[in-house]
Amino acid sequence: MTTEAVRTTCPYCGVGCGLIATPQPDGRVDIRPDPDHPANLGRICSKGAALEETIGLDGRLLHPMIAGRRVGWDAAIDHVARGFRDTIDRFGPDSVAFYVSGQLLTEDYYVANKLMKGFIGSANIDTNSRLCMSSSVAGHRRAFGTDTVPGNYEDLEEADLLILVGSNAAWCHPVLYQRVMAAREKRRSRLVVIDPRRTVTCDDADLHLAIRPGTDVALWSGLLMHLIEVGAADYAFTGRATAGLDEALAAAALGPVGIDEVARTCDLEPGDVAAFYDWFAHTARTVTLYSQGVNQSSAGTDKVNAIINCHLLTGRIGTPGAGPFSLTGQPNAMGGREVGGLATQLAAHMNLEDSHHRDLVRTFWNALAIADKPGLKAVDLFAAIGRGDVKAVWIMSTNPAVSLPDAGSVAAALAKCDLVVVSDCVERTDTTAFAHVVLPALAWGEKDGTVTNSERRISRQRAFLPPPGEARPDWWIVTEVAKRMGFGSGFDYRTPADIFREHAALSGYGNDGIRDFDISGLADLDDAAFDALAPVQWPVMTDRPEGTARMLGDGRFYHADGRARFVAVSLRSPVHAVNDEFPLILNTGRVRDHWHTMTRTGASPVLSAHIDEPFVAVHPGDAARFGLAEGSLARIASRWGDMVARVRCDDAQAEGSVFAPIHWNGRFASRGLVDAVVNPVVDPISGQPEAKHTPVALSPCAMAWQAVALSRRPLEVGGASYWARARGRGFWRTRIAGDAPPGDWDGWARGLLESGGAAAEWISYSDPASGRYRYARISAGRLHACLFVAAGPVEGTFDWIARLFSADTIEPLERAALLSGRLLAGAADTGPIVCACFSVGRNQIQAAIAQGGLASVQEIGATLGAGTNCGSCKPELRNLLTSAEPLAVSVGE
Ligand code: SF4
Repeated sequence: MTTEAVRTTCPYCGVGCGLIATPQPDGRVDIRPDPDHPANLGRICSKGAALEETIGLDGRLLHPMIAGRRVGWDAAIDHVARGFRDTIDRFGPDSVAFYVSGQLLTEDYYVANKLMKGFIGSANIDTNSRLCMSSSVAGHRRAFGTDTVPGNYEDLEEADLLILVGSNAAWCHPVLYQRVMAAREKRRSRLVVIDPRRTVTCDDADLHLAIRPGTDVALWSGLLMHLIEVGAADYAFTGRATAGLDEALAAAALGPVGIDEVARTCDLEPGDVAAFYDWFAHTARTVTLYSQGVNQSSAGTDKVNAIINCHLLTGRIGTPGAGPFSLTGQPNAMGGREVGGLATQLAAHMNLEDSHHRDLVRTFWNALAIADKPGLKAVDLFAAIGRGDVKAVWIMSTNPAVSLPDAGSVAAALAKCDLVVVSDCVERTDTTAFAHVVLPALAWGEKDGTVTNSERRISRQRAFLPPPGEARPDWWIVTEVAKRMGFGSGFDYRTPADIFREHAALSGYGNDGIRDFDISGLADLDDAAFDALAPVQWPVMTDRPEGTARMLGDGRFYHADGRARFVAVSLRSPVHAVNDEFPLILNTGRVRDHWHTMTRTGASPVLSAHIDEPFVAVHPGDAARFGLAEGSLARIASRWGDMVARVRCDDAQAEGSVFAPIHWNGRFASRGLVDAVVNPVVDPISGQPEAKHTPVALSPCAMAWQAVALSRRPLEVGGASYWARARGRGFWRTRIAGDAPPGDWDGWARGLLESGGAAAEWISYSDPASGRYRYARISAGRLHACLFVAAGPVEGTFDWIARLFSADTIEPLERAALLSGRLLAGAADTGPIVCACFSVGRNQIQAAIAQGGLASVQEIGATLGAGTNCGSCKPELRNLLTSAEPLAVSVGE
């Protein structure tokens, strides 16, 4: 394989940053931001910068397996093809399904969709993108007649008013956010953040509207009325390019009208609502950027249309610095939409319900059995598996046992499904545990194809590592199964370039400008041109080979009459309201340094250092109300299930609602699965789950003891009620808690931490009166494991202990330190990582502030480097400038 620099794209979020990966002779890979990629222009965030730590073969699935036994590809493909063929023959095409992923490349997606919708004859293929942006898709289709993102990233820089709705972009889309913040400094543009939670993104805002959860439609419909009232409507535009305004206004008039009433409904200060409305009315260059906080709702599609209505009314759409902008979560959510990866779409943005579109696709594919009705959306699909209606499912590159709401029901459904096939690059996930067949897919770094980011920009993802073991590209696996099912003529591809050319040609087939998605200008790329393809924004036609920066600005939309639609929307309450039994609203989301179900970021010591276990953020008032102490463990329960997480008292959290991250699962925590708690209610139009609004109860999880173990290998924890583990550099850190102490601490510790092998010596300290116990295992002079037990949460930092794992010998004073839990005199401890890009810890920063008299984030950056790369730690740096002492470095005191 090459040791040359390879231009590729980041596999994480929808910003779609370009990276340059250079394999090194020693096997390492140097990964840097691509200065020439238009999405990031040389920037990178902590997750992108730590990619090298995630590309090893530890935990990789390297061989096909049936029923847990290794088999060859021939047998595996035969088994899958026969299983699907037999099921279809007996129960019909709708008895099988694919559940795919925004992690797939466009070419993988294209063939999976083609197989299901064009040859099997069912639309039962849905994608995990259903969970993050399908409400935006549905909203776009209702308003524009098709799924178009009108603007681009430059519009965010060129806006005078930027409104972020339900988006913690500082953490979730950090490179784009920092790019926009840099432009904002020069432009002096305003930033409004609309979010029930005061996230780090709010730190930069001119105005934070901490809206009552679920009332967005009232705020935006109120704005629609206000814009009319103050004369901000662009009637020339609405008369020429839209329809449905009267109906939308009539619906808005049924809701709260006037600033005071809107403010009351949304639980906001009237002055704040007035300021927001005034700024929107008087700022021509306004971009409204929205994300999961809007989409993940039982009224998500209405919220999207309520926003778009205001942009249509003011004619601010598809012009420089103006428009609604949906930020996608995954690297190729947009590519999946383009090929029809959602159960509600055909291919190339064509509609399943449109017989002309079906005919076009049938003819183009020479399809045997084109699907003629929408298939099952994600939540419904797994419910159908649970009922036995769907009997064979193929899950590609995603982990639904963790990521779907009411995860317990999903696991139960998979457990009784006749045939579960999982293609993945990771051997052991919560979902592969249910698989009858597992198929090894290529991982990032090995894959070759294209992805599309949030601004319609198609970029190449290029391989720079050889395929390991017997892993194969997803497109190859799908096409081999298709051939074995008897559909060979439709799946005869040699390379991803073959598939891309066909995908591009289909987009132009019978198009003539009547469909938005058209990349026919790329249909004749030869292999070399495909390989060299530079990032380009669709549409790309032969007469517009440079692509298209903005769409819809000409007032031409894709409904049959060429007009956009205002959509009449009304405020609806969330389906499940809080009550005495479940009095709090659970909101879920991401943390800065983890991604989805942690199968990749959980492999990175750097990314695992920022937050190392599941937590629940609770307003201090609610914490007091429910008897929860900071740092204690709490049970979060809903009608659907429960979880256990560490309590973080946080006044950024509105009273009455709590927040828990989505990432932890059975691989990293015993009871950290938030989707076990989340309700399975979906938006009736988009089918997107309401992940931001589950009524829950919180109660203390009383533990008799708590512990932290550091060990060279991941621990199998028995005899405890709770554990959560995180990877360090050369060790694992495991937090453990139990509701009754073991009778014999030494015996328990040895059982937990000793793995046989070389003879080892162990030392321990016990103070039964205080509940303290400490243990260290030393073999051949090196530290192998240590354990710190206390009666309550084990406080302190661990950096100084972690460094002992890389030492060749543990000195006597260090042994004493392990038993005392106190840092050696004169030694330094960086504290918990704040800046993941440069591994700068909290204690380092606070020491530099105290000793160097640092007074600004810039000065911290100049001294320590922290905050000078992706910038997503800047809000934490600002907090440290005003907060008190470094953390104690003793452990378990
Ligand atoms: Fe990757 Fe970070 Fe860029 Fe997102 S912002 S694409 S995670 S480098």
